[in-house]
Amino acid sequence: LASKEVKKESSVVPVSDTVAIGGKEIVVMAGPCSVENEAQIIESALAVKAAGAQMLRGGAFKPRTSPYSFQGLEEEGLKLLAKARDLTGLPFVTEVIDPESVDLVASYADMLQIGARNSQNFALLRKVGQIKKPILLKRGMSMTIQEFLMSAEYIMSEGNQSVILCERGIRTFETATRNTLDLAAVPVLKAKTHLPVVIDPSHATGNYHYIAPMSYAAVAAGADGLIIEVHPDPEHASSDGPQSLKPKKFAALMEKLRLFAEAA
Ligand code: PEP
Ligand code: MN
Repeated sequence: LASKEVKKESSVVPVSDTVAIGGKEIVVMAGPCSVENEAQIIESALAVKAAGAQMLRGGAFKPRTSPYSFQGLEEEGLKLLAKARDLTGLPFVTEVIDPESVDLVASYADMLQIGARNSQNFALLRKVGQIKKPILLKRGMSMTIQEFLMSAEYIMSEGNQSVILCERGIRTFETATRNTLDLAAVPVLKAKTHLPVVIDPSHATGNYHYIAPMSYAAVAAGADGLIIEVHPDPEHASSDGPQSLKPKKFAALMEKLRLFAEAA
């Protein structure tokens, strides 16, 4: 179902009345890794909106590598994201980590994210295939392109065709960056599938210094959008502070991104 042989024209996935991914416009989703409290998510939402982002991101259910790390505010986090949406008009994407909470997350969110660690959780993929919200599917950290497309197939074969693929870096021998951004995945996926492709330079590099250049490169490679971590106070973030941009740096990135998008 994801194959270009089945459907030749590129898919445009609607997220809300105002936002669709896969069209002419590069869609930028931005916000903190985790929702921490009301002030933090509202400040983040206002800042990313002012900079020109079309969507808000924020984790309420966090799939942490360590069980002792902050696990998220759960439903309270979803409520705060909805509040930020009411205030700014930005639709939001947030992660769902198990089949049991899909209906709860879908009752708040505009788009559901399947994280890298759950990208082959087939029960979860099947469950989000049965809802009517768009799904941002991240590539697993050790996943081939073919396996990635098969995970999309798990969602689509249940009936939900609104899938957006997200490359967020893969595991290699390199340790200078958190993961290795596989930018070639963009043209490779574009050759194989009609689904939109988004790049996550934040998890791909793990370092805020590298977010802007990789964002410009993603647009040049043909990506349909970006998902970027932005935090008003990265030094005190509950998760992923080192890769989070301060609002001012994010605004500068957005300004320059417009030039690259026009040229692309
Ligand atoms: C995230 O988006 O905060 C996240 C946990 O991403 P990934 O699943 O790509 O690691
Ligand atoms: Mn994160």
